[in-house]
Amino acid sequence: MSKSQQTPQSAPFSKSLFGSDNNPSNIMPAKLTADSTLKFRCHPGVSCFTNCCGNINIILTPYDILRIRRPLNLTADEFLLRFTTPVYLEKTDLPGVKIHLDENGRCPFVTEEGCTIYPYRPTTCRYYPVGMSYFHAAGNEGTAAEEFYFLVKEPYCKGHEEPKEQTIREWRIDQGIDESDEMNREWMEIVMRRKSFGLQATLSEPAQKMFFMASTDLDKFRDFVFNSSFLETYDVDEETLAKIKTDDIALMKFSCKYLASSIFGTKDLAIKAEKVKERVEKNKANQGEVEKQAMETYEELRRDHELLKKKIETQKKVEKKS
Ligand code: SF4
Ligand code: SF4
Repeated sequence: MSKSQQTPQSAPFSKSLFGSDNNPSNIMPAKLTADSTLKFRCHPGVSCFTNCCGNINIILTPYDILRIRRPLNLTADEFLLRFTTPVYLEKTDLPGVKIHLDENGRCPFVTEEGCTIYPYRPTTCRYYPVGMSYFHAAGNEGTAAEEFYFLVKEPYCKGHEEPKEQTIREWRIDQGIDESDEMNREWMEIVMRRKSFGLQATLSEPAQKMFFMASTDLDKFRDFVFNSSFLETYDVDEETLAKIKTDDIALMKFSCKYLASSIFGTKDLAIKAEKVKERVEKNKANQGEVEKQAMETYEELRRDHELLKKKIETQKKVEKKS
């Protein structure tokens, strides 16, 4: 059972899906590579087994939601209502969800025997106790990301006392992390890029709602694509359309392109030529209006200036006479 976690008694600790901003003492300072060795094993025989499945923040990625709800046979709506709580994603104004803990502060999927959704467990649970810095560096488009790993070592976690040694690469394969990362990549990049903006530039409420819908409820997003004016605005080829109609993974990837282009203005999704023309015309019309207003203001100022000039001249004449 590997996960982002904390001691059952403490407040949620700083490790998260998005890496760590500060440097808590449980994070080992060494930068690790895929070939570095990790001494760790988690299994039902450890004395701390399942202790870490409570009092914990587990943020869910769109792929996590899809992967967990399918075998549970739940629609996105049902899953969100039963198992999640809305949150803002770390240091952003982007809304997302985390697992809703039960009244004892435990994950709803844990039993004494362990994780009941183990094959489908969230990305955060797979990573622990390894963290990866990649997504922090990937905040800006076109920036080469420096990838490295670090180890989270907490005293209550007895997995570190187990003799099993393996490389980080082997660990990633064992935990199915490569697949999760591949599926999460575009979405994580949007979140990290948004994070790099800081909280100064606030996203509009409709944009936040759209991000939430596309990130958590693909059923609704599909409905939005096919039953709104979406396809009148965006140029989507027939092959992609046929795919996203039935394929949830393709739709999830497509939703990230849409979010990136609508939030950051990337060219991931092309706007139809006639719509671009429409916008240019609208901008031109607006521009004409702006110019007209500027001219009026200028004329007003000029008139005021002339009046003032006349007043000063009159005053000077009066002063001369006296
Ligand atoms: S999803 Fe599974 S591994 Fe993750 S906290 Fe819940 S029970 Fe534990
Ligand atoms: S060994 Fe660590 S990861 Fe495994 S159950 Fe114990 S505390 Fe959790």
